[in-house]
Amino acid sequence: MNLKNSKFYKRIQELRNFSKEKIRKDREQRGLRTPVIRGVEMALSESKCVAPVIELEWSQLAGPLKEECSPRRRPSPPKIKQSKRKASAPAEPRLKGGQGFQPVKTIGLNDEAPVEGYIDLNNLRFRVACTARTDNSPRREEVLKVSDSKSAICVSNSRYAMIGRISKSLGYKLVKESKLWNILWSDSFPGVELFKNMKRFQQINHFPGMIEICRKDLLSRNLNRMLKLYPHDYKIFPKTWMLPADYGDAMHYAQNHKRTFILKPDSGAQGRGIWLTNDLKTIGPNERLICQTYIHRPLLIDGYKFDLRVYTLITSVDPLRLYVYNEGLARFATNKYVEPTPGNAHDLYMHLTNYSVNKRNSQYDLCDNDDCGSKRKLSAINNWMTRHNYDVGEFWSNVDDVIIKTVLSAWPVLKHNYHACFPGHDTIQACFEILGFDILVDWKLKPYILEVNHSPSFHTNEQVDREVKRPLIRDTLSLVSTVLADKRQILREDRKRVKQRLLKSKSDVQRSRLVAGATKVLSNKEGSPTNKEQSPEPEADSLAQQIAWEESHMGNFRRIMPPPDPSRINYYGKFFGQTNLVSIFQETAASKKREDLARKMRLQIEEKKAKQEQMLNSRSKRKRLIQPRLAREKHRLNLFRLKENWAPGYVSEAEERLRNTWQQMRTEAIKNLKITESIYSLLFQFGHLSNTDITTFPNLYHYLQCGYDITGAT
Ligand code: ADP
Repeated sequence: MNLKNSKFYKRIQELRNFSKEKIRKDREQRGLRTPVIRGVEMALSESKCVAPVIELEWSQLAGPLKEECSPRRRPSPPKIKQSKRKASAPAEPRLKGGQGFQPVKTIGLNDEAPVEGYIDLNNLRFRVACTARTDNSPRREEVLKVSDSKSAICVSNSRYAMIGRISKSLGYKLVKESKLWNILWSDSFPGVELFKNMKRFQQINHFPGMIEICRKDLLSRNLNRMLKLYPHDYKIFPKTWMLPADYGDAMHYAQNHKRTFILKPDSGAQGRGIWLTNDLKTIGPNERLICQTYIHRPLLIDGYKFDLRVYTLITSVDPLRLYVYNEGLARFATNKYVEPTPGNAHDLYMHLTNYSVNKRNSQYDLCDNDDCGSKRKLSAINNWMTRHNYDVGEFWSNVDDVIIKTVLSAWPVLKHNYHACFPGHDTIQACFEILGFDILVDWKLKPYILEVNHSPSFHTNEQVDREVKRPLIRDTLSLVSTVLADKRQILREDRKRVKQRLLKSKSDVQRSRLVAGATKVLSNKEGSPTNKEQSPEPEADSLAQQIAWEESHMGNFRRIMPPPDPSRINYYGKFFGQTNLVSIFQETAASKKREDLARKMRLQIEEKKAKQEQMLNSRSKRKRLIQPRLAREKHRLNLFRLKENWAPGYVSEAEERLRNTWQQMRTEAIKNLKITESIYSLLFQFGHLSNTDITTFPNLYHYLQCGYDITGAT
């Protein structure tokens, strides 16, 4: 039965249309804007255009639009008429449509004059004109080539519906993981297999190896190592010990300092399993924990402790490029702060600032204003600092410093993993990642790194979440260089390469090798520039393109690496060289202990294995014992046939004596029972006595011949 023809379905459709119409009329009466116009405004905010919008008119979309478009500089403000555009109308200059206002195919960064164009939204075409953005982004003469094809994004591995919605509004096509996506947005680290199979136009929102700073134990290991190398520069985190490896060190420190310690599970999250203590003796020497000195004098606002969630975007690890989002969140504790005492140490609503912990408290404040609430925007914190005469600029440069140093502590691993996973990714970067840095500020305004989240929460439970996280995702998707890769061209090139590789004969390979060798020798001899020098490497070229793209699409991000202040470049340079000074795999006291522990564990496992094997063997022996009788006999015979088994075995005297006794007893019994006599007389009676019987028992024969009853005789 076709459901669409059913009365029920038609009635539902009618009701739906009726309610839609009613809502529209209602909105009109109340003078509210339609969602479509709000959509246009959103799209405009995505574009390079800023207010004031000179005119915003719309008409029903007449026909399919052409893809070609470019902004045009106009000498005078544009005059825009409301018009019903026909499909056959000559191609006017217009901004590229799509769901959003993905602005242009070719961008001249010198455009300051008003631009005009069309936006296609919900089957309606809007003709808009606005002044071009005159932001601080550097002017560039060159023109960036942006891919013609619509980019596709796969968000099926993410639980946040917002990401799909924003991508769609930016003109991305939502596709499944099995399709040829340009971006894969996943909440968890994907497997290495996925990294290896990625095409050159694809990007993923995680870097391989980022776990080095995203797990508490690995982060403390890396930061402790860097602290050892650069004791003056790396005081960016509270003193941390990894138990049980650093148990002795922690106990020693606790004996000499009267401090409160915070203990966390090594890979925990959301405040789970955290507690405070000032007595480390209560911890067992084999417990796996992260032990940290507790920052007992944090910066307080309105008497509450808080921490900062700073969103950082990494667009490349080699060269390292980091951006910090200017907006973020401050998460507040929900009980007023008092320095830890044995009486209040258990009060998690006072000492922990996690949203997941504090939302359970009835004191949780859902206030929407900037200066109240248990979750506030970073801009509100900045305003508070300015009001209280703190140097906000210096504070944020210190935060940037902490973020850079934290990433640098894992940089060798990140770089190595990236090159190992993406050896041929030469068009755009294969990865980007939004990291959530949790930063605690003490009363002197010194920031400390607590934790790094590789998948920060994008839940939008409160208005403040929406105001921060939506623009963050939008700016991230605009900043990443996906659009610079031409999917079709790359696929074509890859196919061609495979074909060439298949068709290339052996001789061709040899010839090309010879030619390459000869040119190398020549260039070395004459000192002539190599091919590399003559034509810039395509990789370098694409990197330059990417940098140009990022610089012109920063949105609300600020670049922190490479540092905007050139004098800081040398300062950070030394941390890049960490591998030259001390290998990250070099032994420290803690790593030795860890290794010892690992060795012990290995031995234990081996012992266990050996025991298990023994048990298995004994079981199989038992099995062998209860083999069928025939098989056992055969086995024994086989053994017997072996030469050595013919040799007489050892006979013990005691055994022999025992055997004789048994034999004597048997003979006596036979005698007493007169078994031999009764059988003999029977055989005699029936005439069956053989000669042997007669010669063996002559007496019995004689008695029987004489007519005696031998069975009754003694
Ligand atoms: P989780 O990953 O479980 O959230 P965190 O390391 O982020 O663990 O710690 C949870 C909360 O505990 C932080 O938000 C912070 O308020 C508090 N905290 C953690 N470490 C310290 C510390 N060393 N000093 C003071 N407070 C801390």
